[in-house]
Amino acid sequence: MSLLRSWVESANDPGTDFPLNNLPYGVFDDGRGARMGVAIGDLVLDVGRVAHGLDPALFAEPSWNAVMAAGPSVWAALRAQLTELLSDEAHRAAVGPHLVPMKGLRLLLPFRVVEYTDFYAGKNHAVNVGTMFRGAENALPPNWLSIPIGYNGRASSVVVSGTPVRRPWGQVKGPEEALPRFAPSARFDLELEMGAIVGQPSEGMISVAEADEMIFGYVLLNDWSARDIQAWEYQPLGPFQAKATATTISPWIVTRAALEPFRVSTPERERPLLPYLREPGPMLYDIGLEVALASEGKAETVIARTNYREMYYSAAQQLAHHTSSGCSMRVGDLLGSGTISGPSKDARGSLLELSWGGKEPLTLATGEERRFLEDGDTLVLRGAATGKGYRVGFGDCAGQILPAQPLPDWAKE
Ligand code: CA
Repeated sequence: MSLLRSWVESANDPGTDFPLNNLPYGVFDDGRGARMGVAIGDLVLDVGRVAHGLDPALFAEPSWNAVMAAGPSVWAALRAQLTELLSDEAHRAAVGPHLVPMKGLRLLLPFRVVEYTDFYAGKNHAVNVGTMFRGAENALPPNWLSIPIGYNGRASSVVVSGTPVRRPWGQVKGPEEALPRFAPSARFDLELEMGAIVGQPSEGMISVAEADEMIFGYVLLNDWSARDIQAWEYQPLGPFQAKATATTISPWIVTRAALEPFRVSTPERERPLLPYLREPGPMLYDIGLEVALASEGKAETVIARTNYREMYYSAAQQLAHHTSSGCSMRVGDLLGSGTISGPSKDARGSLLELSWGGKEPLTLATGEERRFLEDGDTLVLRGAATGKGYRVGFGDCAGQILPAQPLPDWAKE
């Protein structure tokens, strides 16, 4: 596949995240109210104003949930229509007035997040974390090579890129084994993940092939994690408050259709999977990912580079597993992939791994050191699939750390 040319000049720039090949879906506000938009080059198309022959109710609410609910035939029709409108010069006069510059726009959550589940499906991450906590011998729990492990998160924690993230308070282990303290997290961290967005509902058990068809698109996802809170609370039911502060997603839904040319297979299985988890074809994507960190007022340092294809389980496998008990999935369900770490030291998707539990601090390009996140730090995730002369990008997934709120009197000793 090569670059599809648009009459929007900036969309033909090989460096843009948003060529005609991409057409990602977002929600924007230019001061005249929130509307559904499609990114093209450095512009955003007010899609409700130009779409034709489709139910206007699809564009009535500033979120993509109605389009998702309308199903795959509507997804394909809309994409074909947008491709036609933005490639054929004949539509320029009619469409041009509904394009607005992306710069200066407020980007909002692109869809109503109805439910949120986070997985733990990156093998390098699981091995690294397991090695730190249980030793190299028992790094992977015995179930790991058979089950895409996950926990039910909070849809209310999901925020769009640019939203500041306040350092959480929480119970952390005290100096004595059984007595905790209540304190601001001192080991606040990021997790580099991809989010898969469920675009069709399910009832009962579904196959991996059906699960893949239900996925509408993908976003970048940062599962902010308080490691000290997590270490004290996680047994026996898994993470709870450590992961509930915020989950940041990128503002553009990159559709499964746009990612189709970049499909790759999951890695070879070390243990055969049960039949319900076997994939009928390639279900991962070749998406280059990076994490950049900047302290307040300073230039950023890229602290990790990795790729979505490092996952051991695909989103389709995770979704199929999620329904295996009969759990219903809804339009607007969000699935976090789990932290995506590559095999090398500079490819680790969390500070926990990059600083090896705080023992080996990172040195930033500015000379500053980091074990975990400091107040004022801005974290940016970026990602793109690269084709011949073009890239299908996600836009920035960013958040700045604010200091913990003052402790209310009733919570003091
Ligand atoms: Ca996670």
